[in-house]
Amino acid sequence: MKRLTVLGSTGSIGVNTLDVVRQNRDHYRIFALAAGRNVPVLTSQILEFRPRIAVVATEAIRARLVSSLNESGLGQSDWPELLSGPQALVAISIAAETDVVMSAIVGVAGLEATHAAVGAKKRIALANKEVLVSAGRIVMDAVRASGAELISVDSEHNAAHQCLDGANRREVTKLLLTASGGPFRTTPLAELEKVTPAQALNHPTWRMGNRITIDSATLMNKGFEVIEACWLFDFAPSQVQVVVHPQSAVHAMVEYSDGTVVAQASATDMRMPIQYALTYPERGPAPVPKIDWSKARTWDFGPPDPDKFPLLGLAYRCQETGGSATCTLNAADEIAVEAFLQGEIPYLGIAEVVEETLSRMPNRHAGSIGDILEIDKESRTLARRLVERRAAVVPVEAQAFRPA
Ligand code: NDP
Repeated sequence: MKRLTVLGSTGSIGVNTLDVVRQNRDHYRIFALAAGRNVPVLTSQILEFRPRIAVVATEAIRARLVSSLNESGLGQSDWPELLSGPQALVAISIAAETDVVMSAIVGVAGLEATHAAVGAKKRIALANKEVLVSAGRIVMDAVRASGAELISVDSEHNAAHQCLDGANRREVTKLLLTASGGPFRTTPLAELEKVTPAQALNHPTWRMGNRITIDSATLMNKGFEVIEACWLFDFAPSQVQVVVHPQSAVHAMVEYSDGTVVAQASATDMRMPIQYALTYPERGPAPVPKIDWSKARTWDFGPPDPDKFPLLGLAYRCQETGGSATCTLNAADEIAVEAFLQGEIPYLGIAEVVEETLSRMPNRHAGSIGDILEIDKESRTLARRLVERRAAVVPVEAQAFRPA
């Protein structure tokens, strides 16, 4: 029986993780659940999974959770311990009673707890992007020092893990990450200026949280994945290639020195990589329907358009530069995406804000998680200022993007 802490249980990855647990109740038990502010969903998860501890973002939200549990009818003796704040996230991630930590909080709020779980030598099923994009060197040094197991639940890295399993690393020449191309794969560059949040949120193959969905439309997400792949599997950026594959059935491929390419394909459903990250080195029964090979199907592959997706190239450059560049890249992108969703900047403004933040923010060495959080904060403040300056200059156009 493995005991799980789920950081971000009310989000898209968290909910899918709990479904995998639901299907494998003989193998997994929930030790702790952590959410931000979604009290109704967390309450129903507490009623179903009966964790020992539940954590929310603030004391005020904890008070709402108390009311909600009171209303639920669950006897107080059956309540989990209710905690709040970043220290509680760390505590449930390093507790002796947990074996596996699902790191699925969105943003840097998940960074400290995940780093602590690495130090405590847990199995970490990693979804949170910031962990490796912002703090890749620090986290991977900690992984090497502690011997923790870090298995990405991102479908591409999870696939790469499968393609590289048992490989002689010296014979590996290239990693290929597939990208669906997002909702604007075939949209001409000239039409991207008019794109609305609703259009950008309409991802063709994956249902995910808002930020990652917009990042998938701009291919920023693929850029983050290139950075994460470099850290996870020790590749130089030039050894990681992105291939557009609209059907999202092949998730990654590994090229060997003799030209052989090993590909991983599976149903387009996050429960596949989530379950693999929990069960590795074993495999459980399929959590979702398998690919039906009796049906004819076509899979396409092609190169991404660098002019339409400038954030992808920027991610490569940031990883090559090193230092704090990728931390700033992530922070600026989060602010820019938020501003786009709020109707403050147009779609193409996302890349402009990110590029300008990077060009103004001095690159520096980050030696600790504290340094990363400081750089993240400074980068956000700068990006926010740039958004406000733009909004002041282009109020009329911006209003056209304000959601109803
Ligand atoms: P969601 O936005 O759906 O969920 C985010 C989760 O984080 C929610 O449970 C939210 O709680 C929680 N959260 C936010 N702030 C805090 C906080 N301060 N303390 C505790 N919990 C907090 O995101 P996704 O599930 O889509 O993604 C999670 C991470 O995984 C992201 O980094 C994303 O890039 C990555 N990822 C996601 C994939 C996907 O398919 N969705 C694929 C690969 C990676 P609440 O809702 O209660 O406020």
